[in-house]
Amino acid sequence: MKTLISGGTVVTAIDTVVADVLIDGEVIVALAAPGAHRWADEADQVIDASGKYVVPGGVDPHTHMELPFGGTYASDTFETGTRAAAFGGTTTIVDFAVQVKGESLLDGFDVWMAKAKDNCAVDYGFHMIAGDINERSLSEMDVLVERGCTSFKLFMAYPGVLYSDDGDILRAMQKAAETDSMIMMHAENGMAIDVLREQAIERGETDPVYHSLTRPPSTESEAVHRAIVLAELAGAHLYVVHMSAKEAVAEIAEARDKGLPVFAETCPQYLFLSVEDHVSAEGFEGAKYVCSTPIRKREDGHQDALWMGLATNDLQVVSTDHCPFCMDDHPVLGTQKQLGVGDFTKIPNGLPGVEDRFQLIYHGGVVEGRISLNRWIELTSTAAAKIFGMYPKKGTIAVGSDADIVIFDPAVEWTKSVSQHHMDVDYSPYEGKDVKGRVETVLLRGNVIVNGDEYVGQIGDGQYLPRGRVTVHH
Ligand SMILES: [Zn+2]
Repeated sequence: MKTLISGGTVVTAIDTVVADVLIDGEVIVALAAPGAHRWADEADQVIDASGKYVVPGGVDPHTHMELPFGGTYASDTFETGTRAAAFGGTTTIVDFAVQVKGESLLDGFDVWMAKAKDNCAVDYGFHMIAGDINERSLSEMDVLVERGCTSFKLFMAYPGVLYSDDGDILRAMQKAAETDSMIMMHAENGMAIDVLREQAIERGETDPVYHSLTRPPSTESEAVHRAIVLAELAGAHLYVVHMSAKEAVAEIAEARDKGLPVFAETCPQYLFLSVEDHVSAEGFEGAKYVCSTPIRKREDGHQDALWMGLATNDLQVVSTDHCPFCMDDHPVLGTQKQLGVGDFTKIPNGLPGVEDRFQLIYHGGVVEGRISLNRWIELTSTAAAKIFGMYPKKGTIAVGSDADIVIFDPAVEWTKSVSQHHMDVDYSPYEGKDVKGRVETVLLRGNVIVNGDEYVGQIGDGQYLPRGRVTVHH
């Protein structure tokens, strides 16, 4: 089966060039000047992309489908969440398998592999959340690396649940250094935050906004600093997830300037939402925007600092931390965000975003003049593929790469709404936002899976993606 995508503007992290793209089977086999070869004659299918961008499918290295959290589950399953990802132009996700206290890493990994198997619309890999560091889990890290799970996430937050102390963290980092795998860190000082939360509740400060206010920027930047110090001690690679504070970005920038192999991501919610406009909304509305790290105050300049970090490469990736919970009862899962009415500490943490990210970063980044077209692709696809061992199979349009391709119409203007998205959640954090640019057609390994408003793929199209060891250093 040969497919020709003709006459579009091919945009990668490096180049912007009008070209024909020839696909044979699952991979890209050639690029050429438009019409230079008679490829249209031999192709089984020709897609006219004139006037459109032809870009690599998005890579979202941070999603939580079906994640158990605070007595409920993230409302998107692997099936609904990856279909929504496809609609949003993301063709690869890396989700998180979870080891809970008292269980083995390998058991957790197998459970999550089983959940995803035959259910995904896009290709998927796993990071492993190591929630119980001991001799056995450290030795199981070797096995997981062999199985293509080459990154391990630790938590400096959530004492008593997924929390690791500094000694555990150092041991895991030493093991990661030995196996050329990546340590991902949820960097917040969970011990201090727990005290502030308890004191807020005692004072009767129970509204959703206190979720943000009891996790001040210093609780993030202190943890980022400590994670960097420990990673340097261990000689390990470090990737800090969901950065939201400008003080934390400064810590990452300083480490990178010293030449340390330290990476960091942020997410759309931190770039577009604020305490003033969202979390402090009337009544319980602010619960829509409760996530950790928290949404921060616009007036303190965090959004601007994050966008600047993305532009200057102090931050390398935009992921989503997609972890949706419904405001009203979910038909199957029941009460979700409402668990926290009258007590913000009980609100499940997380927001939807897997369908929004690719387009939102185009709008806020390229249309609003903060980053280049090429940087958009680097932030939403290429960099994550490189950092997490998927490049050049994923993350670019090149001869031999998987034909994961998005045809993106930069001219369409539309308004974001829950009524238009495909994620299994009953609100959009971006309701009513006017945006420019829209995903039109999506190919996964050569097959069209989204055609305009229609999903034309099949459940189970997505395959497990074993990932390589860490090879990037800056
Ligand atoms: Zn997360």
